[in-house]
Amino acid sequence: MPFKIGSIEFKLMSPELIKSNARVRIVNSELYDPDGYPVEGGVIDPRLGVIDPGLYCRTCKGSIGECLGHFGYLELAKPVINVLYVKIIYEILKATCAKCSRIMVEGDVAEGLPPTPSKCPYCKAEQKKIKFVKPYTFYEDNEELDPLVIRERFEKIPDEDLKKIQFNGGRPEWLILTLFPIPPVTMRPSITLETGERSEDDLTHKLVDIVRINQSLKENIDIGAPEFIIRDLWELLQYHISTYFDNELTGAPLARHRSGRPLKGIVQRLKAKEGRLRGNLLGKRVNFSARTVIVPDPRISINEVGVPEKIAKELTIPVNVTPLNIKDVKNLIKEDKVNYVTRPDGRKIKITPENKNDILKNITDGWVIERQVEDGDISLFNRQPSLHRISIMAHKVKVMSGQAFRLNPSVCFPYNADFDGDEMNLHILQNEEARTEARMLMSVENNIVSPKFGGPVIGLELDQVSGVYMLTEKNVLMTKEEVSQLFASAGIDIELPDKETFTGKEVFSLLLPDNLNIEFENNEAKNLDSLEEKKKIDGIVVIENGVLKEGRIDKVAVGPEKGKIINKLLKILDKEKVKEFIDNCGRLGIAYLMKRGYSIGLSDFDLPKSVQKEIKEKLEESQKEANKLIEKYREGEIRILPGMTPEESLET
Ligand SMILES: [Zn+2]
Ligand SMILES: [Zn+2]
Repeated sequence: MPFKIGSIEFKLMSPELIKSNARVRIVNSELYDPDGYPVEGGVIDPRLGVIDPGLYCRTCKGSIGECLGHFGYLELAKPVINVLYVKIIYEILKATCAKCSRIMVEGDVAEGLPPTPSKCPYCKAEQKKIKFVKPYTFYEDNEELDPLVIRERFEKIPDEDLKKIQFNGGRPEWLILTLFPIPPVTMRPSITLETGERSEDDLTHKLVDIVRINQSLKENIDIGAPEFIIRDLWELLQYHISTYFDNELTGAPLARHRSGRPLKGIVQRLKAKEGRLRGNLLGKRVNFSARTVIVPDPRISINEVGVPEKIAKELTIPVNVTPLNIKDVKNLIKEDKVNYVTRPDGRKIKITPENKNDILKNITDGWVIERQVEDGDISLFNRQPSLHRISIMAHKVKVMSGQAFRLNPSVCFPYNADFDGDEMNLHILQNEEARTEARMLMSVENNIVSPKFGGPVIGLELDQVSGVYMLTEKNVLMTKEEVSQLFASAGIDIELPDKETFTGKEVFSLLLPDNLNIEFENNEAKNLDSLEEKKKIDGIVVIENGVLKEGRIDKVAVGPEKGKIINKLLKILDKEKVKEFIDNCGRLGIAYLMKRGYSIGLSDFDLPKSVQKEIKEKLEESQKEANKLIEKYREGEIRILPGMTPEESLET
């Protein structure tokens, strides 16, 4: 019968609850007896749960995993403040009458208590000033208030008064601990080192300190030791219990391990990025995934991802063994390309050189192998932040050398990736439905069009654009031999028309489909006014029946976002062909750039005279503006902006 959780309420633990929850009363600060067994009544008493495989819990008879562990409790010799609630204790203490313990407010208080009145409205007693010194000390007119006194005052507060100040979840005196819960060993397991030595959890170390000091305090009280000794031990107990809860308290020294490493308190376990909530519950590690740095590789297709061999050997895909594929499966095992086999009875076996031949002999229909990924396997590739659906796309695996994922620079735009150290994640899909879905919906060629603005998000970048830009220059001329060499080095298989020489534009046209007709201005032409000027720099791109007649190809033509040609091709070709065009275009650009050579020098960064002049003018203009404002300010005529002083208005 399943249950639905309606609500969860957090409350304070009363001493009665601490006691009734507990199975063991802790009285001993020793962990192990001389024979190496956990001491009864110690903080790792066997009744607190099991942490060793093969053993059973002394309380519930459960094995490891079945038994969640059981609490114990420690009777504190003197009460101690729960540091996690000092602020609330301070608030209540200030509002409580020192004599009659009534909350000194009249009527209901929703938020925040009013300041302490000088006289109690109920018993008319004069009130002294309460001072709080971090982390856990309270003074009343410079006289220290010990936790016992505070607890006595809180005990006398009537329930109606607590309701008035909306104190929920228990009684305020429970904020001063008299019983201390000892958590189960399952939340602080000890580990056995290779040397056979036992290493205890930080919390266990702290608990040992707490029990030891408490024991010593109790003995000293019993023998009637001098007041100052008892004070010191009490203070020490308060310190250890406080740092057990939170070891980053302001005003208290860090509790340290013998090695000098600060111990982890309960707060430290939960808090921050690596803490339980953000580190273990919200962020989980994913199986069949890999993460590493990305590097550009313009030679692979836009729908491929270069996967390092080392990673490919770890990531696997399950394959059912059938009469049809048993031969291939055996070959894979022989080539060490299978990591695990699962028998029909569910037993999973790791393949090692020792058991390889046995497995080859026994494997038959119904077994499942986990084979390493190979070229052509579909994978999901992702770069955070995953802001839109094209932050995760499906790429085909291409196993390659090196330590980094390789990515065609043409797909940087949708991922918003660059190669200054960016890392990306790869996921290997584990069943046929997922693979089909990824292939049909998430593959790169299915996501060339942006879901945001309808234009292409995939297109040539940087060197790829520079290459085609230089190739489509007016005076580029190549022999047939040069052209075929160019295509060969680009890895493009294409049939050349029977001609002696080719212009750069003719070479580029070989990639275009015959039915492409388009006319647009390139990036340079946009900044010019007259048609004459635009024509002069070859800025008007004209493509007629798949032939580039005029204009130089740049990012407006083939880049992401604008990509006029890509956009048009999407309408007249199927996606596979558009992908091919982007692949080939990028490769051609790179190949041409490599053949021709391209470099920049420092002089390329010099500003032209006209720009220098403009900068000078802008600076002078701003200076004049500022002087005018200062003048106005001196004469008191400056417009004062809302919520600002005249000085602030001047600065804005
Ligand atoms: Zn148990
Ligand atoms: Zn009073």
